[in-house]
Amino acid sequence: MQHNLSCEQVIALLPFFVEEKLTDKLAKYVNEHLENCPECMEKYLQMKNMLNKLIDTHNIEIENPYVTKQYENFKTNLSAYIDNELDDLENIKIKKIAISNPLARQDLENIYTFKKLLHSSFEKTKNDMKTDYSKVIISNLRQDNKEIDPFFKLSALFFAILSIIIGGIIGFLYF
Ligand SMILES: [Zn+2]
Repeated sequence: MQHNLSCEQVIALLPFFVEEKLTDKLAKYVNEHLENCPECMEKYLQMKNMLNKLIDTHNIEIENPYVTKQYENFKTNLSAYIDNELDDLENIKIKKIAISNPLARQDLENIYTFKKLLHSSFEKTKNDMKTDYSKVIISNLRQDNKEIDPFFKLSALFFAILSIIIGGIIGFLYF
């Protein structure tokens, strides 16, 4: 079965064809047309060329202009900067690079975000441990273990005294 796309239809589809975004079926029809139509084939090749150039320059832009010696130096000193281990002059250098170099700025932001994440997960762990610790105290008190840690004994005593005092106050007020 022959699917004859018109030149107009093919040209409308070309941008998608070049980027390989057509369904297999449609791509096949476009391909069939290109093989039989030198004019559309030429347009296709032009477009493909343009896209390749665009991809190339894009890649160069991402990889090169900001990876300078200054930036390499920044990377080396970054963790020392974060940990406040640099002197004032070096600190200013780092700040200057971060202002002028987007790549450096991104690195700095990333490392701060990472630090924050690390810190918050550390805080969370600390809080979890606190909760568990209080659970341990309570379960130890309930078990009335004979080999209780002195600290548990002390806190048990403290709670006992506290409840006597409170109980005394309540008793004094109400009875
Ligand atoms: Zn054509």
